[in-house]
Amino acid sequence: MVRLNEIREGELAVPLPARQDAGLYFIGTIRTPWTDRLECPRQGRLDGPTCRIDVASPWDRGLEGIEAFEQLEVLYWLNESRRDLMKQSPRNDGEARGVFSLRTPVRPNPIGTSIVRLVKVDGPVLHVKGLDCLDGTPLIDLKPDRTLFNPLAPAQAGDFQVGDEA
Ligand code: SAM
Repeated sequence: MVRLNEIREGELAVPLPARQDAGLYFIGTIRTPWTDRLECPRQGRLDGPTCRIDVASPWDRGLEGIEAFEQLEVLYWLNESRRDLMKQSPRNDGEARGVFSLRTPVRPNPIGTSIVRLVKVDGPVLHVKGLDCLDGTPLIDLKPDRTLFNPLAPAQAGDFQVGDEA
């Protein structure tokens, strides 16, 4: 079962540092049909319900050109998550795995990412399919799907660098 804020058998919680290292701007709000974490999809699907991404002013000024992309990568802040569980038991069976080997919403920085299909752009509102978050989840970034994006800036040395032979 998808977790809420419980600590399960076999899990490891650590004390969180008093100091944080960076700040974020929430650039909008995601509107979805889900109001309970236990009802959300565990991962969004491209044929799922159409959801809305409301981009707030002044960040909506950055949307120009986005309609050219059929798919976007959306980053959002899973604001109801606890952040201290380094080992987690997704099946709640006493078997725990490290957080960084999971796509759990419970992470030190609870950033969720989804690839979504862009259905329509309506001013500062994007209509998309493929999300899995609660209604009201804060938006932190939007980018073209990397598989559809060709860099516009001139090429630079690192682009041509390949690894050493093993
Ligand atoms: N697709 C993203 C990823 O892979 O990074 C998120 C996957 S995460 C497993 C999705 C789950 O996060 C949902 O099923 C729900 O239980 C939980 N969730 C959704 N919105 C949330 C929110 N605002 N705060 C905390 N948890 C949330």
